[in-house]
Amino acid sequence: MSSGPFSFVPVPLTPELADHYRRMLRVHADDPVTGTCPVCRRSRCEDFHFARTQLVCAGERLDLDLS
Ligand SMILES: [Zn+2]
Repeated sequence: MSSGPFSFVPVPLTPELADHYRRMLRVHADDPVTGTCPVCRRSRCEDFHFARTQLVCAGERLDLDLS
């Protein structure tokens, strides 16, 4: 019960949802020229972080270089 605030339970995503988040990662990835998200005009924007977090928490393997 007292698992602490940082213990993530993997939430399985439907294939459709996982696909949606992967698409978000691609759309909101930093542009190599400008160094910012072409949609939000911010580097590593919130949408990018959100989609990435959802995928990571679901235990999805990310084939993007996000380091
Ligand atoms: Zn964005």
